[in-house]
Amino acid sequence: MSLSPSPTVSKLGSFMDWVMQHSPGESEFHQAVQEVADSLLPFIEANPKYAQAKIFERMTIPDRVIMFRVTWEDDCGVPQVNTGYRVQFNNAIGPYKGGFRFHPSVTLGTLKFLGFEQVLKNSLTTLPMGGAKGGADFDPKGKSDHEVMRFCQAFMTEMYRHIGPDVDVPAGDIGVGAREIGFLFGQYKRIVNEFTGVLTGKGIQYGGSLIRPEATGYGAVYFAREMLSTRTDTLAGKVAVVSGAGNVAQYTIEKLMQLGAVPVTCSDSTGFIHDPDGFTPEKLEQLKWVKNTQRQSLEAYANLVKGAVFVKGQRPWGVPCQVAFPSATQNEISGEDAKQLLKGGCQLVSEGANMPTNLDGVEVFRAAKLLYGPGKAANAGGVAISGLEMTQNSMRLSWTREEVDTKLQDIMRRIHAQCETHGRQDSHYVDYVTGANVAGFIQVADALLAFGVV
Ligand code: NDP
Repeated sequence: MSLSPSPTVSKLGSFMDWVMQHSPGESEFHQAVQEVADSLLPFIEANPKYAQAKIFERMTIPDRVIMFRVTWEDDCGVPQVNTGYRVQFNNAIGPYKGGFRFHPSVTLGTLKFLGFEQVLKNSLTTLPMGGAKGGADFDPKGKSDHEVMRFCQAFMTEMYRHIGPDVDVPAGDIGVGAREIGFLFGQYKRIVNEFTGVLTGKGIQYGGSLIRPEATGYGAVYFAREMLSTRTDTLAGKVAVVSGAGNVAQYTIEKLMQLGAVPVTCSDSTGFIHDPDGFTPEKLEQLKWVKNTQRQSLEAYANLVKGAVFVKGQRPWGVPCQVAFPSATQNEISGEDAKQLLKGGCQLVSEGANMPTNLDGVEVFRAAKLLYGPGKAANAGGVAISGLEMTQNSMRLSWTREEVDTKLQDIMRRIHAQCETHGRQDSHYVDYVTGANVAGFIQVADALLAFGVV
């Protein structure tokens, strides 16, 4: 005779059936909801006011989805067509806030997963920001600056009517860095004839915040420092494996070096670099030059830097380390990869990327009681400093590097404390997944309850 599942497990099953019915084919979105539901449903069961008002159900359907055609001309004068999106997920606690992603893999399901995560992440920062995500299936790779500009202008020509400093404030994400934000802001300003803080991640010359480029990577390292401090440990001397070679990875490597750790890898879509001697500030400058200025693959970096070995087509999780910082993209750590990390001596994972670990991998980390900081907590430093950029824009002033960095460290400490409040299991172990999901949920849920049936 087969045993019937426990009430919580069967609730998770029927809840996920319901989610899948209203979002068919959106597998990344299902994965993100399942990870949250798994740790949240017991809390909701213990607090029936949320279940009675169907608060979590409401939080899994976006307020609205905007989807549109983007037509632009390439350098040969040939028309090109892409799909643009904005998923305005939930604005219960503040204006919508979340990045734009330009990558050929972008689908509605990708942006729904990112928007759903963003709602809880923004709530965790304790700043008044709702959650959204947007972007396009446009690939900036291999395009000239003029082509990227024409695409950004065409994209903003539709997007401008859906955003605004009190409505929805986008920022960057994969494929959207300083260059793209400049083009997008320029087009918004031209159409609306207003100089407002409608985007964050802006250049310093036109309303950007110091430390915003660094914030996600620095924040992920500060979060790791907080996790280690619960075991009276530090980053000093620890060998670190980092994935990605873009914005988040570069500033993760920088802060790791500053705090005495030894980052030995980075990766991109072509493979990974292993440098057993570790990065130095000079090597990091070379990396930035190759990726940000030359826009080349990591093979070009290995040709420049002595001691750096390029491993084609693979990820760095087999390299022995004590701490790991996945900072490239979603689902880059499978269950097998997670086991490899443990085997190599890994004690801590701090996610700079969004959902880099799949559900099997998360299970491996939680079962091993690793110090595992999920993205919505560990990488919230970026959006937190975007929130502070909005504050500076409204007040028409700029804080110094030191002021912003101090605020970032305070915010990461507060996020960690909230995770601990809701996730501490015993004197040795904090379940950061449960902690982040419950803490992020409560504020949004209570706001929705206050609004009545909306
Ligand atoms: P970038 O575009 O600057 O860098 C992304 C890096 O990841 C690049 O090295 C890229 O390789 C690699 N990459 C992207 N897609 C893939 C893939 N499918 N397989 C292998 N490698 C891939 O983006 P960010 O650094 O800004 O973002 C990285 C992650 O951090 C994302 O998950 C993002 O959502 C998350 N994040 C970013 C924040 C921010 O402030 N920027 C805030 C919070 C989270 P290549 O160079 O070859 O394209």
